[in-house]
Amino acid sequence: MVLGNYKSVISARAADAEILKRSQDGGIVTQLFAYALEEGIIDGAIVAGPGDEPWKPEPVVATTRAELLAARGTRYTISPNMMLIKEATRSYGLDKVGIVGTPCQMQALRKAQLYPMAMRKVPDKIALAIGIFCMENFPYQGLEAIVEDHCNVKMESADKMDIGKGKFSVYTERGAISQIPLKATHKYEQPGCHVCLDYVANLADVSTGSVGSPDGWSTVFVRTKNGENVWSKAIDAGYFETKDIASVKPGLDLVTKLATDKIDKNKKSVEARATFGVNKGLRNPYI
Ligand SMILES: Cc1cc2nc3c(=O)[nH]c(=O)nc-3n(C[C@H](O)[C@H](O)[C@H](O)COP(=O)(O)OP(=O)(O)OC[C@H]3O[C@@H](n4cnc5c(N)ncnc54)[C@H](O)[C@@H]3O)c2cc1C
Ligand code: SF4
Repeated sequence: MVLGNYKSVISARAADAEILKRSQDGGIVTQLFAYALEEGIIDGAIVAGPGDEPWKPEPVVATTRAELLAARGTRYTISPNMMLIKEATRSYGLDKVGIVGTPCQMQALRKAQLYPMAMRKVPDKIALAIGIFCMENFPYQGLEAIVEDHCNVKMESADKMDIGKGKFSVYTERGAISQIPLKATHKYEQPGCHVCLDYVANLADVSTGSVGSPDGWSTVFVRTKNGENVWSKAIDAGYFETKDIASVKPGLDLVTKLATDKIDKNKKSVEARATFGVNKGLRNPYI
């Protein structure tokens, strides 16, 4: 169950070369939202758009393809996308909302749908929730320290950042690559991530990440009926190239291993909270 419930899992990438050009992996998020927007399945999507400072995301309600494309790529810092979920249905006037987010943001979304406190008329307007895999996240100052102090790259010169194969990598606009072992980044992690028990966005309609698939491709879990409906229509319409996950390396075994490692490690942090103090513990959000 470390990978959650799903109907199918596949390796895929966007068929649209323009989307792929600046996407983090296979451009699944941008391509699926772009398709859903064209087809009227959503009338906008909450994404992590560019902010005022380099690599600091600003949640936006994207209602055009251009706005979706401007949000391509991973920003390894907090983007409070759920902040706009109510507003998307109010001042933006959306009836069919798309949203992308980390596993914790998908949890917030489903909680808001099931327990809609101050969320009147929001739950039934969620049309497509795309989750992204997430091992951990960093506060903005932490990301700055990793990139500027450890990798020796100015934030504004960074063209792409990536976590994979045990390394944090920064690619500069001039083509250089600076890499550090992931171990060196641990102290900058957002402490709240240490009690997180979801790696592959178990509660999304469709969830995606890089792990398991070759470079430039994504691993995609199709989880809900709604997700399956949108995904299969997009496949039939030729929006994605796909490969059987069993035929690619490193495949699902690595996804399962990383999900298990994350959950096992963080379960220990959750359990340790019970005996944190002398004769008293810290709160456990799961009980
Ligand atoms: C903090 C973090 C940790 C991650 N860890 C892993 C991991 O361990 N293993 C793995 O396989 N994948 C991980 N990913 C996911 C991976 O980096 C890609 O985001 C994912 O594969 C989607 O790529 P894409 O090419 O389909 O998306 P693109 O088409 O490039 O679109 C990316 C979408 O993600 C959104 N986004 C970007 N940054 C954030 C953010 N901080 N919060 C919320 N939404 C955001 C953008 O709005 C955009 O819509 C992580 C992502 C984040 C944000
Ligand atoms: S590790 Fe968990 S809590 Fe932290 S950002 Fe990722 S999904 Fe959210």
